[in-house]
Amino acid sequence: MDRICIKGLEVFGKHGVLPAENALGQKFVISATLFCDTRRAGQSDRLEDSVNYAQVSELLKAETESQVFRLLEALAWHLAKEVLLHFELVQGVTLQIEKPWAPVHLPMDTVSVQIHREWQQAYLGVGSNLGDRENQIRAAIDFLREDALTRVVRVSSLIETEPVGGVEQGDFLNGAIEIATLRSPEELLELTQGIEKKLKRERKIHWGPRTIDLDILLYGREVVQLENLCIPHIEMERRMFVLEPLCQIAPYAVHPVSGRRVQELRQALSLEGDWEDKSRSEGTEKNSTNARKGF
Ligand code: AMP
Repeated sequence: MDRICIKGLEVFGKHGVLPAENALGQKFVISATLFCDTRRAGQSDRLEDSVNYAQVSELLKAETESQVFRLLEALAWHLAKEVLLHFELVQGVTLQIEKPWAPVHLPMDTVSVQIHREWQQAYLGVGSNLGDRENQIRAAIDFLREDALTRVVRVSSLIETEPVGGVEQGDFLNGAIEIATLRSPEELLELTQGIEKKLKRERKIHWGPRTIDLDILLYGREVVQLENLCIPHIEMERRMFVLEPLCQIAPYAVHPVSGRRVQELRQALSLEGDWEDKSRSEGTEKNSTNARKGF
């Protein structure tokens, strides 16, 4: 991707772990590489079609001067976030902050921290089969929208599906959501679990009824294997109630493990003779045409 670079911006700030640093202040040197598509600006020759590096520099200076952080890491994240939130064209930013007068008391040129942050495209699955299902899904999406680090890009229509897992319970409404987020996979899980909690999801029965279920299906092309988090979602290939709505909004998204597109996964599952046993989507064919809810 194209880059716009700001190198060696000198700013005076009061960041540091020592009280003297917070009182007296010192010089910080900021370099930022902004990852963005400059094609449009290249053709139009108009500043409005690009990222104004003067404005970015002003923002970096203002934020460095107006805040006080103990750590360069915290300042770097704050600045990266501000740039990514304020300049829509910027997809990613590499930010380096040097502290040449750091109180090290040894001969050295400088110390620095460098971070890279970027918007990640991710897909979530959402489901509800308890209470006012549609309103709860709407509320979950509103909570996602309220998160400062997340943008809701697209929402599928909702389909009505029958439950799996053998527990006697009501039908589900299921949907899929595309988001852009600055959160890491673990931070995204924190957000979705926080939303489940706010909407009073109860985990009394495994595979049982739930006011809201938010699953992380895909996070860019990343494969995550942690104790409490597996991305792509481990069940997504076997669940028509996931693939059906996901296919509406991201038919060509690629599952990074199998290398297959969502559309292919959906087709493969629907061709499997026994897919109806594995998914609660037996009703999907009927439901996808009759019971879709505009969202
Ligand atoms: P569920 O009841 O299906 O919502 O599962 C919730 C549990 O699955 C939580 O303990 C999560 O830590 C774990 N989990 C693992 N991978 C994922 C994922 N991709 N999205 C959401 N929860 C996940």
